[in-house]
Formats: sequence, C-alpha cells, structure tokens
Amino acid sequence: RDVFDPEDTNYCTFRWVTSETAFAMSCLRANPMTGEMIDGDVIFDASFIKYWKQSYALLIGSTTAVGGEPQAAPLAFGEVISPILASKMGFGQPAAKALLGVGALDKPFGQMIPEVVPADQNYLQWQLAKNLARGTRGFCQFQTGFRHDFGLAAIALADVPKPEPPKTEKDKEKDKDKAPKKPEPKPELPEEFIGQAIKHIVMHEVGHSLGLRHNFKASTMLTQEQLNDTAITRSKGLVGSVMDYSPINIAPKGKKQGDYYSTTIGPYDYWAIEYAYKPVDGDEATELKKIAARAPEHDLAYATDEDAFLNDDPYVNRFDLGADPCQFGKDRIALASELLKDLDGRVVKDGDSWARTRRAFGILIGQFGDGATLASQYVGGQSVSRDHKADKDARDPIVPVSGAKQRECLKFLADNILSDQAFQFSPTLLRRLGAERWMHWGNDSGSGPGIDISVLERILGIQKIVLGHCLSAETLARIQNQQLQADSGTDPLRIEEVFRSLTDGIWSDLDKLPDQKDPKAAKIALSTVRRNLQREYLRRLSSMVLGDRSNPYSDIFSYIVIIGGGSSSVPADARALARLHLKEIAGRIGMVLETRSASLDDTTRAHLEESKHRIAKVLEANLDIKEP
Ligand SMILES: [Zn+2]
Repeated sequence: RDVFDPEDTNYCTFRWVTSETAFAMSCLRANPMTGEMIDGDVIFDASFIKYWKQSYALLIGSTTAVGGEPQAAPLAFGEVISPILASKMGFGQPAAKALLGVGALDKPFGQMIPEVVPADQNYLQWQLAKNLARGTRGFCQFQTGFRHDFGLAAIALADVPKPEPPKTEKDKEKDKDKAPKKPEPKPELPEEFIGQAIKHIVMHEVGHSLGLRHNFKASTMLTQEQLNDTAITRSKGLVGSVMDYSPINIAPKGKKQGDYYSTTIGPYDYWAIEYAYKPVDGDEATELKKIAARAPEHDLAYATDEDAFLNDDPYVNRFDLGADPCQFGKDRIALASELLKDLDGRVVKDGDSWARTRRAFGILIGQFGDGATLASQYVGGQSVSRDHKADKDARDPIVPVSGAKQRECLKFLADNILSDQAFQFSPTLLRRLGAERWMHWGNDSGSGPGIDISVLERILGIQKIVLGHCLSAETLARIQNQQLQADSGTDPLRIEEVFRSLTDGIWSDLDKLPDQKDPKAAKIALSTVRRNLQREYLRRLSSMVLGDRSNPYSDIFSYIVIIGGGSSSVPADARALARLHLKEIAGRIGMVLETRSASLDDTTRAHLEESKHRIAKVLEANLDIKEP
C-alpha cells in the first residue's frame, strides 16, 4: 500500500494508470512568488498500446449567439489525411486556437464556426481539455500521437516470415510428403521497441515536470545518414531534446536498423537544465548570459509550440525526424509504398477480421499526406531562430530556404504527389478495407462514416495539401518577400516558377495523348485521379482570377496590420499569372479537342470540354463581380 499521497509536495511521483483515452500528463506546481518549482508528478496511461483502434476526426460546428453561450453540434466524421499537418493546424490541441486569436474577426454573430476534434474525445471532454489548456502553453499531446506511430511500427516491424528452406538433402527427403509450412504473420511489436518508446515518453514527461517546454526543432540534429548509427545515437540521442515529439526511427530498406527512439537525454536538455538549475556563485545574470550565448550551436536548435503554427518553418514539425524533413517525408512515402504491396499478409492472421487492414491502410496513406506536407512547407519556407546579436555563429532571426532547395521540393511534389503514378493500389487490397461496425459504451466513436473508403477522395485530399500550400496568399506573398530578402547573386524561387511547375505537372499527359487513327482501337482516357486534380487546380486558379468576396473588415481595419498576414487576397502578380495559365491551359485543351477528339472516350472529352468552357467564362467575367 502506498504510504504517501501523490499530492504531497514532498514526493515527486510517477503513476501508471489505465483509461479509455491514451495520454500521459505532467503536473507541475510552482511557488507563485518566486517561480520555484516545488512539485512534479507524472501520470502515464497504459492504453496507448491499443494502437489498432480506428481513430476518427469529428467536425463540430459552434454557432455564436449574441450574448449567449456557443451552441455546438457534431456535424461529420472523418479521417485525418496528414497527421503532421493536422497537428500543425492545432488538431487535438485545445490551446492553439486561443493562442492565434485571429480568424474570429470575419465571423459575424450567428455564423457557424467549425472545429475539428479527435472523435474519441467527446464534446464534454474536449471542453474540459480546452479549460485545462487555458493559460498554459504546455499542453502535451505526445502520447496521443504515439498511437498512430505505434500502428506504423506494427506494420513495418511485423515479422513476415519466409517459408523455411529444407536444410539438407535428408530433410528434403523426409519432408517431401508434408505440405510446405505456411508462414504466419506476427503483427506484434518487439519488446525492445516498446521499452524504448516508454522510456522516451517518460523522459519527455519528466522534462515537463522539470519545467522544460517542447522543442520541435530538436529532431533536426542528425542527418538522415546518422540516424541509424548507434555510436552517435547512444551518446547524444537520436534527437537534440527529449522534448520533441519523436516518431519511430525506421531504417530505409536495405540499411541497418539503429535505435527506434532516442535512448538518452539530448544536448539541448543538458543545456536547458544547466541554465535553470546550475548553482551560481557570484554574478548570476552574467553567468546565465554566458550559458544562453551558446544558442546558435547546431545541437541546441530550439523551436516550440508557437513556432509550429506561427512560422512557416519546414524544420519545425511534430513527428518528423532528421536534418532534412523533406527527405524524411520521401523515405516514409517509399516505406509506405513498399508496405502496401503485401499489406493484408502483414497485419491479418488467418482466422482474424480484416478490420486491421483498413486501419493499416489509413496509417500508410497518411505517410503520403505527411510527405506532401513536409515537402510543401519548403516552398516559400523560412527557418527561424532566437539567436541574439553577436552570439558566436548567430543566425539572422529569419533565414529563407534557399532557392535550390525550394525548387527540389517543388519538383518532388509535381512528379510524385501531383500525379496518378504514386497512387496505384491492388484491387484486392481495396476490397478488404471494410470498417468495423460496433457501437457500445466505451466505443461511441467506433463507427466511422461508412464501410468503404473513398480512395479517390483520399488521394485528392493529399494533392489538395500541395495546392493549398503552394497557392495560398501567405505562401505566394512570402515568395515575393523573399526576393527582397535575398542577397544579390543568389537565385531565390519566383512565383512564376510555382505556377509553371504546377501547370506542367498537373496537365502533363495532355500533350502526350496518342493520336488514335484506328476507329476500332480502344478510346483514350485520362485517369479519374488526373481529372479530379485538374478540376481542383482550375478551380483554384479561377478563384484567384475572380478574387474573394471582399471582407467587410479589411477596409475598416486597413490601418492596422493584422497578425499572420491578415488579408486573404493573393499578390496582384499571382492573379495575373493565374490568368495567364488559365489561358495557356485552355489553348492546350483546345488543341487536343481539335486534333484528337474522335479518339477520346466520352468522359475525358466531357471533362476537357467543360474545363475549356469554364476557363472561357472565368476569363470573360466582369472584373467588378466582387460582391459585398
Ligand atoms: Zn509534452
């Protein structure tokens, strides 16, 4: 029996609990007069091991009433397309919205404000979490994110044994009448992996108890090549700080596997603890300044929750790993493509339900979403730091990502995400993605939107991540701004290059359609994935040309610069470029319809004719159609 009370400040405790929702939490009490921390306790929930549970996102609509409490109602269920992007947008993090404080400006009374929350937290729990997070900046969702990662680990590390070859001629002779031994997948996680994961979460939560904030840039300490070198990782960690949200480290195919998680405290942690706890004789301020001046050192990189959503810094992410997050995204896409090939053999044993296949498919397709997110962020990206003037090797607070790197990522996206080639799935696998259907207390969110997955919708969702980022007003404005920030002789990315890459990638097969002279030959068709993407691109170019409905506040408050850019309109040059590209695309479509019309199938012809018609309407539209 415990002979102490965990609330007693004489004891710093670590408690193992079990609940419905997976979470770990660090509770910290400080002396309000001095800030001195007097008690730290951690509770650690065991249920994050339930990684095969399907998780959904719930769309809640709150309607504001004048002088009244917001009325909330659940609107829809969905699945998260990119967990990294969702986390960056504040999904599951009740503090994010309150911190931003913008966006409410253009919501008049009575209008619905949609909010997406994890479905396994019901509305009450969500409000509770929001209240908990109010006033604090340290709301921790580390363990919740782990569940998704554990799923990936279970798929990737699943032992898919090959049938054992007979050892000798004699064995061969002996076994000749027996049926060959059938391999049985073992979709369970190695003990070493679980041990490292638990240690990592514990280090993280104890870090909070000691007063540390999150450090989402710590994962960039090692290059992708160094990640699996245990000589390095066992001495200074996989990541610079245990206060990052680390994903599982999986070695690329054919490379030696190192540690799954950081097994030790990182250089940043030692440094931060030194600053907070080192006993100083003499002038404390000078000594602290001396410690802080090490900030520009490579292993001490730091960026926290605010940086994750206030800056477009491609190096600040939750659940990424390595010095080049774009490469991490590419590696994860390669891993997912490989695992999708024999997915049902990996995760389902004979005699078991197919339900795991669906969860596994969702996790793997999520890697494409994350890859799209991580690479997109480099376009118009900038790296931020808090180095002080004249610190040794101090960086400027804002360092734009080089033009060459931005171009590399843009090319990757155009070739691999804005194409139908990456998204080829086996028809058998797609028939096996049925959802579980079971409602019961404790499993209220157990039933999703429907039994089957709309794969086409999911693919377009991933492609929309790229279009949404590259064509957003913020990104395009920043790319123009980066022209001004660039030293002469450097070659920053220009917005015309963004439009060129997108148009050429998305409409690439238009010029390659064969000329089918034989009337008996099969008709030529663009794939559904292509047509959906082309429509979406045209829609975005069109709304750029036509402009947004004007915001009633933008004129009134134009004497204030609203944080985060505020204005939703794109740079004027972008609008002109959108018009140019629409015209060019219409020309290319016109050429195909003129020369190949007879060899196209009806759907492709209908799509092209409709696209041409829409473009013509947009280009002819009266310029002052902006409604109030
Ligand atoms: Zn945390």
